[in-house]
Amino acid sequence: MLLAEHVSKSYGALTVLRDINLRLERSQVLSLVGPSGSGKSTFLRCINSLETIEGGMIWVNGSLVGYKQVGDSYHELTERELATQRATCGMVFQSYNLFPHMTALENIIEAPVHVRKVPRKQAIEEARGLLAAVGLSAKADFYPRQLSGGQQQRVAIARALAMKPELMLFDEPTSALDPQLVGEVLDVMRKLADAGTTMVVVTHELEFAREISDFVAFMDGGVIVEYGAPSQVLVDPLDGRTRAFITRQK
Ligand code: ATP
Ligand code: MG
Repeated sequence: MLLAEHVSKSYGALTVLRDINLRLERSQVLSLVGPSGSGKSTFLRCINSLETIEGGMIWVNGSLVGYKQVGDSYHELTERELATQRATCGMVFQSYNLFPHMTALENIIEAPVHVRKVPRKQAIEEARGLLAAVGLSAKADFYPRQLSGGQQQRVAIARALAMKPELMLFDEPTSALDPQLVGEVLDVMRKLADAGTTMVVVTHELEFAREISDFVAFMDGGVIVEYGAPSQVLVDPLDGRTRAFITRQK
């Protein structure tokens, strides 16, 4: 489902990702953890072709990110084609980025109707199902400013799911929330993981990562320092840097 091979990325002289290799199968959950500046967000953005990579390859659901195959050769995608490819991933950021002038329901149907060309009536039906799934049936007609941070983030998750992505990418979706609102968002993510959603999750919630992940990658300085089962990486790490990081987070 997700395959990263020898991925590298720089900003000018600064190398942000070096030789990243990862593989994730359908229905698996991968958590990326590591200190600030280690390259976690950059890697997610590369998966979603919001950034280009200088070296290596990323495959999502059998497609090479940023390219299309024509005969035996690969060609760079146009902006328009990139947008279509990007829709195979649903992304949820730290800030919810909902359209402020649209209700929860309107936020969710926006992309399905305009990008996926789903008939409006069907999109509304699907959106109501998604709102129910994130526990917000009663808030369909509320505007973002009328919702708590946790509720807005759950709408943002529903909005991403409405595009029926192959892969969900979460970049610290709870780190901007008041502590009492974190749990409701983690509960939704836990349900998605249990339902077999393929997910890459950047998080500082190590206990949560341990619980939901099939694999955990610890990143530091643009490299994957340690990779494995959560019971190993987050409980009994082999590398001193991982050990220091998880000790600091406790
Ligand atoms: P955090 O936990 O703070 O979110 P992170 O692991 O997500 O950190 P990234 O945001 O991926 O880290 O950043 C990795 C490195 O790349 C940092 O040194 C950052 O300053 C640098 N960086 C990120 N985006 C850019 C950019 N657009 N231009 C230049 N440097 C960048
Ligand atoms: Mg980040």
